[in-house]
Amino acid sequence: MTNTENKAPNSTDESPRGLVLVNTGDGKGKTTAALGTILRAVGYGHRCLIVQFIKGSWMYGELKSIRRLEPEVEFHRMGKGFVGIVDDNLPREEHEKAAQEALVFARNKLMSGDYRLVLLDEIFIAVTLGLISTKDILDIMDVRPAHTTLILTGRGAPQEVIERADTVTEMREVKHAFRKGILAQRGVDY
Ligand code: ATP
Ligand code: MG
Repeated sequence: MTNTENKAPNSTDESPRGLVLVNTGDGKGKTTAALGTILRAVGYGHRCLIVQFIKGSWMYGELKSIRRLEPEVEFHRMGKGFVGIVDDNLPREEHEKAAQEALVFARNKLMSGDYRLVLLDEIFIAVTLGLISTKDILDIMDVRPAHTTLILTGRGAPQEVIERADTVTEMREVKHAFRKGILAQRGVDY
């Protein structure tokens, strides 16, 4: 039983080839584009994993809709929230420990081979904050099973990661409503 009509011209679903995607830059759209890719994958019944590295930068809209995508999508919110700003009253070691735990967790899950798509959201922010290293990310890229697509997001992707990734998109801010004092809007920004 073949159904070629449903296939894209270069579809290779019999032997899927995983890729490394990077969404970086200062403009809006890194996380939402990654979630769009998850939505697409779920349409084919692909199992997806999301690990959020910095809790607090991601609010509730997505959390609720992701529940509707279970069981294909598995979501883990790790990290300890904002680091070094407003409501952060945790010692730095706590943040480091949480980021390292997220890393080990994500690495083990990735290596299991159970997922077609793994999203590590805001992982580059954890690097910028010095909670994990560029080497940690390169290591994650190294252990990726061939059939698993890995999406890494966050501002400030390290150059070495960019060089090793397959598809890199830099969101560039042309304008952002925030600049004219419009605060984050529910359903659009979180
Ligand atoms: P989104 O989750 O909307 O795709 P993002 O993942 O690209 O955004 P983050 O750096 O994770 O961006 O920040 C998330 C939040 O910050 C969102 O509410 C988003 O609207 C807002 N944001 C993104 N870019 C900017 C910007 N250039 N100036 C101000 N706020 C921004
Ligand atoms: Mg984001």
